[in-house]
Amino acid sequence: MRTIEHRKVIILGSGPAGYTAAIYSSRANLKPLLITGINPGGQLMNTNEIENWPADMNQISGKELMNRMHKHAVKFNTEVISDNITCVNFKKKPFFLEGENNQYTTDSVIIATGANPRYLGLESENTFKGKGVSTCAVCDGFFYKNQEVAVVGGGNTAIEETLYLSNFVEKIYLIHRRNKFNAEKILLDRLRKKIQSKKVVLYLNSTVKNILGNSSGVTSVLINQKNPEEEKLFQINISGIFIAIGYTPNTNIFVNQLEMTDNYIKVMRGMHGNYTQTSIPGIFAAGDVIDHVYRQAITSSASGCMAALDSERYLNSLI
Ligand code: FAD
Ligand code: NAP
Repeated sequence: MRTIEHRKVIILGSGPAGYTAAIYSSRANLKPLLITGINPGGQLMNTNEIENWPADMNQISGKELMNRMHKHAVKFNTEVISDNITCVNFKKKPFFLEGENNQYTTDSVIIATGANPRYLGLESENTFKGKGVSTCAVCDGFFYKNQEVAVVGGGNTAIEETLYLSNFVEKIYLIHRRNKFNAEKILLDRLRKKIQSKKVVLYLNSTVKNILGNSSGVTSVLINQKNPEEEKLFQINISGIFIAIGYTPNTNIFVNQLEMTDNYIKVMRGMHGNYTQTSIPGIFAAGDVIDHVYRQAITSSASGCMAALDSERYLNSLI
């Protein structure tokens, strides 16, 4: 295992929060090292339709946006390294991090490790992962051209996945456990049109009981629908199912190191600066890893900027 030269600031994560922190830290001449993790570019790499990134009014793909952020950070001398951090020690100084490839020491850390897709917790999900069970329509949707598929969830992701798939699959069964969606109005308007054209069939108040299949993959889904007047269990034939029920923050490696609430890293917030400082001075956090409410590219970038400014101020205080 290689030991990398000591740094003033190390940034964990290559999503919008990580790259924005890198741009600000590098322009402050701190020569940051950014560690990409196993998902370079972060969650946005899974979407090809971003319509709410300010000043990009003509739809932009996640890949394109993240490539531009990468180039922007590198232009100002951020060093980007491919590694995945597996353990940290923030209890001694300099702070210590160990990845799959290298070991690192640093005076400050900006954690921007984001979040990962959640699963329903069914055994059959594991059985058919990659064989009909997916969490990314943009990545896998193409394989289901002219076939019938299901999408599970009721937030923005589920509606976006449904709309994306509707461009090429035969039919989508959208399964949601409530009778109302929690998604943007513009997306719901588009969904309504797809329902009217019978491309999308809604199953509300419904949960997935099981995913069924054979050696070639998923063949059907067993649904439990609980309406006030009746409860029924039924099966529909599908060849793919897209789970879009939200995300879990990537914070396992910080357990017993940093204070957390519901697995999200606690930061100071408040009115007096140092918003992104965690329970340990010198360790800052930004993006989806501290935020279960807004979870947007722009809010992640914004807190990445704040973390870079907070860490710069912290480093200046050490001189
Ligand atoms: P992430 O983007 O999750 O990036 C986390 C980074 O941390 C990754 O690079 C990962 O490899 C790295 N990492 C994780 N663990 C480690 C580790 N141990 N060591 C090192 N690195 C690690 N938002 C919008 O504003 N507009 C949209 O249109 C939009 N569309 C979306 C569509 C989809 C399908 C999804 C899933 C989300 C969408 N979002 C959208 C939300 C947006 O993607 C997130 O809010 C944003 O990406 C969060 O940024 P982040 O930098 O905090 O984390
Ligand atoms: P989300 O908003 O948390 O929605 C998750 C959905 O899945 C909810 O409908 C939830 O139902 C359901 N769900 C959760 N656990 C479930 C389970 N075990 N079984 C069945 N259903 C379950 O997550 P998201 O849609 O992934 O969005 C995440 C964030 O990214 C949001 O902040 C969103 O705004 C953002 N995003 C933005 C865009 C955009 O701006 N266009 C696009 C995609 C994502 P309940 O309501 O019953 O809990």
